[in-house]
Amino acid sequence: MRADLIIVGAGMVGSTLALALEHSGLDILIVDGSPLSVAPFAADAPFEPRVSALSVASQRIIERLGAWQGIASRRACPYGEMRVWDGSGTGSIHFAAASVHADTLGHIVENRVVQDALLERLHDSQIGLLPGARLEQLRRSGDDWLLTLEDGRQLRAPLLVAADGANSAVRRLAGCATREWDYLHHAIVTSVRCERPHQATAWQRFTDDGPLAFLPLAGPAGEHWCSIVWSTVPAEAERLMALGDEDFCRELTRAFESRLGQVLHADRRLCIPLRQRHAKRYIEPGLALIGDAAHTIHPLAGQGVNLGFLDAAVLAEVLLHAAERGENLADERVLSRYERRRMPYNLAMMAAMEGFERLFQADPLPLRLLRNIGLDLVDGQAEAKALFVRQALGLSGDLPELARA
Ligand SMILES: Cc1cc2nc3c(=O)[nH]c(=O)nc-3n(C[C@H](O)[C@H](O)[C@H](O)COP(=O)(O)OP(=O)(O)OC[C@H]3O[C@@H](n4cnc5c(N)ncnc54)[C@H](O)[C@@H]3O)c2cc1C
Repeated sequence: MRADLIIVGAGMVGSTLALALEHSGLDILIVDGSPLSVAPFAADAPFEPRVSALSVASQRIIERLGAWQGIASRRACPYGEMRVWDGSGTGSIHFAAASVHADTLGHIVENRVVQDALLERLHDSQIGLLPGARLEQLRRSGDDWLLTLEDGRQLRAPLLVAADGANSAVRRLAGCATREWDYLHHAIVTSVRCERPHQATAWQRFTDDGPLAFLPLAGPAGEHWCSIVWSTVPAEAERLMALGDEDFCRELTRAFESRLGQVLHADRRLCIPLRQRHAKRYIEPGLALIGDAAHTIHPLAGQGVNLGFLDAAVLAEVLLHAAERGENLADERVLSRYERRRMPYNLAMMAAMEGFERLFQADPLPLRLLRNIGLDLVDGQAEAKALFVRQALGLSGDLPELARA
């Protein structure tokens, strides 16, 4: 089977790229190892443990691709405020969408919901979709990439995009170098029911062992649900994972300083080791890496997939402009326009997250004092806070057209 462009990975980011190129005239094939079926949605179904805080920029991209309705009709929780505080000090900071005249800071959405809304659109499009297609081998064959799937089928295309996530097979098989290191943190994620309402606020407490986030979910009337991301050192994560539900809820209530009252119930817990990874290059002739295949960052600012959506939108824009001008899309000079626009932004975001993570891990008293004074100082500066808020909305930097107002 041959196509002009093969995208490996129909996750949130790969699906977005395919949809953004829907009217490009290119013969596109998107392949994924999973069945790519859309599960029927039941409003009373338990929450999926993996969620994302989608920025306003991501929402705009998904809206323009016609998939936001699929999210809104399922389940999404808008949030307008964010409260961050230092658990071992007194510093705190509060952000509000209203400070920049925005309606929301973003939406908390289950990954499955985002994925299904995008898949629904893909199934309705003319884009070639190949489920159950796990990439196993990859090599150059003339000007094409030759892909061999697990079941022996072969695919070829002059342009290949890796959207196959953090452990990208494309990246590995193409020999793309990465810089990576362990955060020495695991993240425990689950959905919890709290005693008090979440106030449409994203809460984050920095503990001595790592950040603990409570993200608001759209629960049934009268129930107050949050998704939690509890990042901590591996030994502590192991201990917390081994606790019975009641003990876990008790420890979680204490770690969160009972800000939303008691944690009354916790769903099934997942424990995810956190690793920072960044490809040294996002491109080579005929190949581009996007989303987690190009970079994974600490979830403390909830930016991972937001960066991925912007990668997909920028790459689509670059390819569409190049196609209009009749350029060879596999040419390194064309693809490097994508890398030049995205790499500095992604690196800056990763450096900021790394800095935050280290600052809050720091134990010496002067550093603790400094960060508490710093938080309070920033909290008093309307302009500095507005800058942070714009960053959270995803509306700073070199935005692709799909993300502009
Ligand atoms: C605890 C935690 C919390 C997070 N919270 C947030 C948040 O609040 N906001 C945010 O923006 N981000 C968040 N992230 C990051 C976000 O989850 C990721 O950035 C996002 O899931 C990456 O999407 P992707 O499409 O690039 O990759 P993936 O979602 O990993 O999709 C990859 C796809 O490729 C397919 N695939 C893999 N290998 C192959 C193969 N060999 N052949 C064929 N197909 C293959 C897979 O089946 C999958 O469909 C969080 C991450 C963690 C760990």
